[in-house]
Amino acid sequence: MLSLPQIGPSEDLLTQLQQWQDAVDAKLNYAQQVAKADGDWSLHRDKQPMRDIEVLLEQMCCGGRRCAYCEDTLAHQIEHRWPKNLYPELVFDWLNFLYACGSCNLKKGSRFAVYPVGGRALLRVRRVPGAPLTAPPLGEMVFIDPRSEDPTQFFTIDLRGSFRIQVQKGLPARARERAQYTLENLPLNSDPLCKQRRSAYRYYRLEVQAYIRDRERQQSQRQLKKHRLALAEFAHQTVWFEMKRQQAKIADLAALFAQAPEALQW
Ligand SMILES: [Zn+2]
Repeated sequence: MLSLPQIGPSEDLLTQLQQWQDAVDAKLNYAQQVAKADGDWSLHRDKQPMRDIEVLLEQMCCGGRRCAYCEDTLAHQIEHRWPKNLYPELVFDWLNFLYACGSCNLKKGSRFAVYPVGGRALLRVRRVPGAPLTAPPLGEMVFIDPRSEDPTQFFTIDLRGSFRIQVQKGLPARARERAQYTLENLPLNSDPLCKQRRSAYRYYRLEVQAYIRDRERQQSQRQLKKHRLALAEFAHQTVWFEMKRQQAKIADLAALFAQAPEALQW
């Protein structure tokens, strides 16, 4: 999981989103707002402004419409970072959107937790079936948020064996708790994903080796640039990030980057 680039919608698009949001917020009570948010999301979801939003969200993905969480599968669902059925006041908030795949969206589902304003303990927010609808507390979201934070400060990848995402060592207690909660509530370490990360690791190494060979053959700058572009569009960019971050500690990688130190800037 990597930090997503900051991209801003046009004024017209933001105005449209705000108008839709205002209609939800205008409802008199929370239960009505939840129902209105649900209905209006379905109503507006396929309209042109949301198509335009999808284009912007796609621009945030690296090299294809990949999931912002697992970076693997085709992302085809607009995910609400703050679930729309719990926080209807954010259903049309641009900053609340990102692209996620079905697997991540399904597992995350209605799992959500906050550190309430003024509170220290993690509070799981869930809706009890049959209970009256009451507004959950606001506060700090527990999930690590690739739209506003740098996930690489919380996670690393075991490049020497399992290719599992792991919580960074030495984090302060709350950051560690947030990272653990995120790993528990997103399917980031499934066997297929770890295999895909291993494949990506091989691919990135081969691409740098091919670049080094071409450079030794004194190929054109254009030809050399192709390796960099191909690398930037491949899946699991976090693996490439970690290869650069960890290269000094892994002999193979240190040797590879010693031959092409410029690749550390790619
Ligand atoms: Zn995913």
